[in-house]
Amino acid sequence: MGNDDMDDCIFCMIASGKIPCAKVAEDDSFIAFLDINPINPGHTLIIPKKHVETVFELGKEEFGSLFEMSRRLSGPIQKAMAAKKMGVVIEGFLVPHAHIHLVPLNHGGELSFSRAKKAEAKDLAMIAERIRQQL
Ligand SMILES: [Zn+2]
Repeated sequence: MGNDDMDDCIFCMIASGKIPCAKVAEDDSFIAFLDINPINPGHTLIIPKKHVETVFELGKEEFGSLFEMSRRLSGPIQKAMAAKKMGVVIEGFLVPHAHIHLVPLNHGGELSFSRAKKAEAKDLAMIAERIRQQL
């Protein structure tokens, strides 16, 4: 894939700070932030900063590190949102940049994108802060 793909990629722009996000955590290779269309409050996306289309294009180490970051964040997100369970989805129909969805859940059957609703920026900022306090 060429540079044009990455220039247009909304997640690359979030990773480089060109587009603001409600950031939950970040390291050299990955960034976690709240989905602007959450299935439930606290719905977090974890992405590699490097542009690849799907998680399955990542190398073995990076793939492991992405899941390790999901593991590390799931507890703090669950606690911050007082959720019963944490759901994980890899789908990727909307944005062609690898990402994992981490979704706080309270009931079976909630893990559906048909339930996703646009959130207010101020609410996302407040929730991100609440999660960061649990890290
Ligand atoms: Zn990208």
